[in-house]
Amino acid sequence: MAELLDGKLLSTKIKEDLKLKAAEFEAKYCRKITLAVILVGENPASCVYVKNKIKAAEFIGIKSLSFSLPENTEEKDVEDLINNLARDKSVDGILVQLPLPKHLDEEKILALIPPEKDVDGFTAENVGNATLFKDCVNSCTPAGIMYMLKSINVPLSGKHAVIIGRSNIVGKPIALMLLKENCTVTVCHSKTVDLKSITKQADILVVAMGKAKFVTSDMVKDGAIVIDVGINRTETGLCGDVDFETVKDKASYITPVPGGVGPMTIAMLMYNAYTCALRRENV
Ligand code: NAP
Repeated sequence: MAELLDGKLLSTKIKEDLKLKAAEFEAKYCRKITLAVILVGENPASCVYVKNKIKAAEFIGIKSLSFSLPENTEEKDVEDLINNLARDKSVDGILVQLPLPKHLDEEKILALIPPEKDVDGFTAENVGNATLFKDCVNSCTPAGIMYMLKSINVPLSGKHAVIIGRSNIVGKPIALMLLKENCTVTVCHSKTVDLKSITKQADILVVAMGKAKFVTSDMVKDGAIVIDVGINRTETGLCGDVDFETVKDKASYITPVPGGVGPMTIAMLMYNAYTCALRRENV
């Protein structure tokens, strides 16, 4: 029976620590760390994520500036808002909740965020530096996964890490982070042939595909560490990409959904807001 990688508990500890750090920051620089959060439209999942991010910021003592724009907002208006926030000296971080409505050019909009205010780590400069293993703002979900993996003190070097999914926000950056830790990394995607034969070799299996309960116990090696990134809304509630009930008996560690990677993503976002604020004070 696997040990649970409790993201809720771990993220609470991180947020409590950040609360102290944010207070120290405020005392030292006579201002609050400030995070701008932009939501365009009313995608129900995005509304929940934004609400949770603002709640976490409030808990820590980070000031959030919330901008909720209607679904039909023109690209020029989103661009103007980001350009204003980019110039605003009191703003440490800018977050654009994705996905954006289809008529908006996501890449063009994200490129307007200055790298030093890019709390999601999505801009080309941060992604490039991450690829070069240089100092950068790390993408939140993979950073949260790495934090969880390090929390269990299992050596990562030499482990075979298999990732299902190659998205820019999860699959690709977690592959790089695991490679940086000297894992041997295999990235799988929808064109991968005989997926099961590959996942069965994984010492660490990271699943980020968006397919409810897709990974079953026959796809998992005995004793593997299983990280379930998926968030799927089904008739019976939220579930991950891993069939938790069967896989938990085979894995050594497993993340639950909800309560695993999700809360860690938010904690890492808050950590990024803090580090962006520090860097902007030249610390
Ligand atoms: P995405 O952009 O839709 O990417 C999905 C990836 O899965 C793609 O690379 C796709 O391959 C691959 N895939 C799909 N079906 C497959 C199959 N049958 N076999 C092998 N690979 C397959 O998704 P994402 O943004 O990375 O998100 C993945 C999941 O994680 C979603 O459920 C999302 O809600 C969740 N998520 C959670 C958090 C969190 O904080 N917990 C954060 C981000 C995302 P191709 O590239 O070939 O299409």
